[in-house]
Amino acid sequence: MSRLWNFSAGPAAIPTAVLEQAQRELLEWNGSGASVMELSHRGKRFIALAAQAEADLRELMSIPADYAVLFLQGGATQHFAQIPMNLAAEGARADYMVAGHWGEKAASEAAPYVRVNIAASSKSDQYLHLPSPESWTLDPGAAYVHYTPNETIHGVEYHDIPDVGEVPLVADMSSNILSGPVDVSRFGLIYAGAQKNIGPSGLVVMIIRRDLLQRATRPMARIFRYAEHAAADSMLNTPNTWGWYLAGLTFQWLKDQGGLVAMAERNRAKADLLYNAIDGSGGFYRNPIAVADRSRMNVPFTLHDSALDAAFLQASEAAGLLALKGHKALGGMRASLYNAVPLEAVQALVGFMADFAQRHG
Ligand code: PMP
Repeated sequence: MSRLWNFSAGPAAIPTAVLEQAQRELLEWNGSGASVMELSHRGKRFIALAAQAEADLRELMSIPADYAVLFLQGGATQHFAQIPMNLAAEGARADYMVAGHWGEKAASEAAPYVRVNIAASSKSDQYLHLPSPESWTLDPGAAYVHYTPNETIHGVEYHDIPDVGEVPLVADMSSNILSGPVDVSRFGLIYAGAQKNIGPSGLVVMIIRRDLLQRATRPMARIFRYAEHAAADSMLNTPNTWGWYLAGLTFQWLKDQGGLVAMAERNRAKADLLYNAIDGSGGFYRNPIAVADRSRMNVPFTLHDSALDAAFLQASEAAGLLALKGHKALGGMRASLYNAVPLEAVQALVGFMADFAQRHG
């Protein structure tokens, strides 16, 4: 077995049990005589799979009945543009709260479709903390407020849902969906690319309050209109059937693990272990993020001397630790600790880090 402990930011680790089940079922799925990838999305077997995946996600996240669940494509990036097309009338304004790279990107991609107001930003402090609530300039007339609860590159995370009053709150949960319980009723729309906590890339899961489906008034092709996807049970055109299948297996795995309360406890323990190792390294390793705003999912860190980076990466891979290289925008290292990364992986990482520091300190 040559699977290493995988700290990739995305596409990221998938639970081994999920991959093993997919492997067992790859050639012949569920008595169908074919692979799940080879079957019509309109057949009764796939429709049952799709409905089960949605039901399991609804159960895991306690999604209220007045929310639609959509299984879409295009990556989170396409929805940076499609969300304003659907939620904002022509000429309308929208608030963007920006705490890192992805929030910035969401705002700039929305700009052709809505008048973007940067209602909060910590860019002038290099995104080392979340924008403080006193600095927010929310517009009560905005069509929606968009934010990124977890910034995958900068490693900051909102641990509470921002209170934005009556304006619908839109969240890009690509890198922290399903990492713990959330009160879905506080949101107008939640969306997430699948390739971190859900499954393979090429699938986007969206949870949208049904009244917001009626907002899209501008002319656009049906394929861009969320209401059309909802009316067609996400089968307006051929969906990513393989991704949907693996998402369904992951939802079942999460239920077997004890659901999102259990995941939150594990994710807290994993993050605490790594941050304590960094903070306790006497300055050999450093994470610069304000302690209260640190992400449980993505932990960027630097070595006290960047000349050691190449040796660290080489030795870590030799020790069975994969994908610790930081994002090119920040350099250094990053360990992503999504649901599929077990505590043992983080224990192996902190053990390696202590050993490396001792050898190079
Ligand atoms: N938002 C967040 C928070 C992300 O982490 C990413 C990808 N790393 C994206 C959006 C972009 O996702 P995609 O590549 O699926 O468009």
